[in-house]
Amino acid sequence: MKPSLVWFRDDLRVRDNPALLAAVADGAAVGLFVLDEASPGVRPLGGAAKWWLHHGLEDLRGALAGLGIPLLLRRGPAAEVVAEVWGALDAQAVYWNRRYGGPEREVDAAVERRAAAEGIHAESFAANLLHEPGTVRTGQGGPYRVFTPFWKAASARPVRSAWGAPDAGRGAVLPPALSAAAAEGAEAWGLLPEKPDWAGGLREAWEPGAAAGERLLEDFASGPLRDYAEDRDRPDMDGTSRLSPYLRWGHLSPFQVRDRLLSADGGPGSSVFATQLGWREFCWHQLHEHPHLATANLRPEFDAFPWAWPQDGSDEAALADGWRHGRTGIELVDAGQRELWATGWMHNRVRMVSASFLVKNLGIHWRVGEAWFWDTLVDADAALNPANWQWVAGCGADAAPFFRIFNPDTQAKKFDPERRYVRRWVPEAGTPAYPKPVVDLGASRRRALEDLASLRADR
Ligand code: FAD
Repeated sequence: MKPSLVWFRDDLRVRDNPALLAAVADGAAVGLFVLDEASPGVRPLGGAAKWWLHHGLEDLRGALAGLGIPLLLRRGPAAEVVAEVWGALDAQAVYWNRRYGGPEREVDAAVERRAAAEGIHAESFAANLLHEPGTVRTGQGGPYRVFTPFWKAASARPVRSAWGAPDAGRGAVLPPALSAAAAEGAEAWGLLPEKPDWAGGLREAWEPGAAAGERLLEDFASGPLRDYAEDRDRPDMDGTSRLSPYLRWGHLSPFQVRDRLLSADGGPGSSVFATQLGWREFCWHQLHEHPHLATANLRPEFDAFPWAWPQDGSDEAALADGWRHGRTGIELVDAGQRELWATGWMHNRVRMVSASFLVKNLGIHWRVGEAWFWDTLVDADAALNPANWQWVAGCGADAAPFFRIFNPDTQAKKFDPERRYVRRWVPEAGTPAYPKPVVDLGASRRRALEDLASLRADR
């Protein structure tokens, strides 16, 4: 019997994986992951993401081995590599779960064309979003630009429940040339940092993989979910789920998370949490409509905004560097940036405050911050990261006007009232060893508003 190929991408799981289920239903399955740093426009992974991917692939390999299914790891331009592998396997079909970035869709279309030319059955599935981009439309048939009506319309649509894992014993026997290659791990890809090994904090904070994600979901749904509506804004508490990297890498599907949520007795926490999943959907629908979300302002009038682009050796470069490494003299911002550097994650409230500070108080382009988050977050997400940066910067979708500028000190008083979060990450805060603020919050706020006014006057 000819095997079928499952091409894994942002879906490193065996449960609720329609592409895997389809391959197994054919008879015998082989898994494939391609590290694609060569296809035009595909964004190279950041450092923290590479660290996660290494461990995520090990986890997937173990889970597939439990089902008797081998996992091949390959590197190169995906469209070519996938075709090479189906040739070597003499496969009858290739299956994958859809992804929605522009360059990735082009790669997938190229694979489809090649499969058609070679008589291989190719099929893709909806697996990583509750609602396929393009399906949630306004009355006029266009995309929503504002979240609340988007989520209202989306929530009225039916959503399937999650599926399980396939039965064991449906793996293909690899031809000898490929079976030696299957034994190779991701080590050869050098995804882990070596000199220096900066991943100690990541190892302490995270256990990548599906089983760890499922445990976290269970713990959250049976505990903190109940108080999520109040506690989610408190960086000094464990009030949020920390599921973001598991969703980013597809160790968990949103269907699995939604099912668990529906069966939980979470009170108001459940609907507030469901809304956050809605924001995830909204960001991906934006990327689908605007493939250049990470580089182009969604509101083009902001193209003329006088944001600074730090040049080597400039004052802005020093300010940006101080922000990256948590040395701005603004406690909540520094605490967040240090949490990010140490653990690859930052609390959402602090992400908003820190991003607002960079863009509005320091006057630095949001793309500078977006790029730093992309490199340092374990949940670095091609849609959520740029959409949220644009939202905070005021040039994105939804109603987050530029003139609403967070005051980091007021935010700290409100959301870290006993200074537990700040003290944890900035132990020298309040002592002479701590730097003075690099900008005056009031004066920089006024300058940002003047810049906005001049932008409007120019139009
Ligand atoms: P919870 O509060 O438990 O939320 C559950 C899930 O809902 C999250 O895991 C996430 O999938 C989704 N979600 C929550 N908040 C948002 C949001 N604002 N937008 C979209 N989806 C959301 N999240 C990422 O996963 N990757 C990123 O690269 C990313 N970059 C961000 C950049 C900025 C400037 C800001 C302000 C936010 C960013 N976020 C990003 C969104 C949010 O901060 C994280 O999803 C959240 O902090 C993850 O923690 P959690 O899983 O405990 O969240």
